[in-house]
Amino acid sequence: MLNFYGGVAEIGGNKLLLEDKDTRIMLDFGMSYSCRRRFYFEPFLSPRDERGLLEFGILPNLRGVYRFDDSEPSIDGVFLSHSHSDHASCISFINRRIPIYCGETTKTILKSLSETRARTFETDIEGLKIETFRTGDKIKIGGLEVEPIHVDHSVPAAYGFIIYTSEGAVAYTGDLRTHGAKAELTQDFIEKSREAKPTILICEGTNISGADVSSEDEVKRKVGKVISGTDGLVMATFSYADVDRFKTFHEASKTNKRRLAISMRQAYILDRLRADGKLKLPEIDDESLIIFQKMKKRYSPWEEEIQSHLNVKSPEEIKSMQDSIVMACSLFDVKELIEIRPGSGSNFIHSASEPVNEEGEIEFTKLLNWLDHFGLPMYQIHCSGHIMPNELKDMIMRIQPKKVYPIHTEHPELFSKFLSRYVKVEIPRRVELKHSAINL
Ligand SMILES: [Zn+2]
Repeated sequence: MLNFYGGVAEIGGNKLLLEDKDTRIMLDFGMSYSCRRRFYFEPFLSPRDERGLLEFGILPNLRGVYRFDDSEPSIDGVFLSHSHSDHASCISFINRRIPIYCGETTKTILKSLSETRARTFETDIEGLKIETFRTGDKIKIGGLEVEPIHVDHSVPAAYGFIIYTSEGAVAYTGDLRTHGAKAELTQDFIEKSREAKPTILICEGTNISGADVSSEDEVKRKVGKVISGTDGLVMATFSYADVDRFKTFHEASKTNKRRLAISMRQAYILDRLRADGKLKLPEIDDESLIIFQKMKKRYSPWEEEIQSHLNVKSPEEIKSMQDSIVMACSLFDVKELIEIRPGSGSNFIHSASEPVNEEGEIEFTKLLNWLDHFGLPMYQIHCSGHIMPNELKDMIMRIQPKKVYPIHTEHPELFSKFLSRYVKVEIPRRVELKHSAINL
């Protein structure tokens, strides 16, 4: 029995409850941003506490799941496919007696993101019972067996799951792709899922609308081309935890005899991620890297830790070395432009997805205005973290499930029409839970 509390006809917000006899597990527990945006305009209008999320069904009103509810736990565990907030950020609310299962590096990312953010009722993950798994583990939980299998996505330690139930196997893709730097991981998931002969495949469909043909290799080639053709500063924005993209920029910078300047936050996360040897990340004081210091009156402990490194540079120093660096920054770091004042001949590379909603477009316009003001052209160079339609079809043909539930897409009908000649597609219904708590 599957209940969808999020992820239906929306990108992310996955919260899937799988119930088999008296065992109940939650697959992902992410924030539903589309729902949240209907009621909030952050940071001016934001929820004060959990009631502001429960009221509108942004957080499903379930009994025995949350830390602010003192009834006995009603679920046996939460399984996280990866660390992105649309899959994981509601775990802060989980009852501390309920175990959360995720990959080792997912735990590292969740912890370092939480440490570098202001602590609020939504970012506090203190006291959570986090158990880590690896590919090939089989986790017995009540009457269920859960097998995590690595997949390739735009963040390390992403997994899909095969859940063995009393009514056959259920496979869940999480978020995955076949055009990334580690496509073989996704192929492993597809192969294992095929062997499990699943009755149900719960499948992401982000790119069923807005498809593209690209790869991380292509991103690398394009980024290299822009850097080599630039005489002034190169500024670039990409996701903090996207290790493949970090490496793309790091390599391209080195090839072009530039050093990659990263923010203190990026440095902190990178340093923590080095615990995962498979990621092969450089030390943060490697000579190919510099860390740019934000000028503030007071620094938090994690910032002080980073400041002890010798390659930390002030905005003034960054300004003087701008023609020989690539500066990786987030949207919020564009403020540094006032200090750095990039010279003529500088460029900006936007290496993340283009805005998908009105709110994102408003933010994007502000970025464009800043770049306009400082005279930096923008290059859009990106490849998606999600599988493309034809590859999605190939994956489903290989796995051959009896039935597919499309999730993590704003276009489940399109998904269904595109794939109906290959497989039975059933569009799940989101369970509407507002106001009154419902017993599981
Ligand atoms: Zn997602």
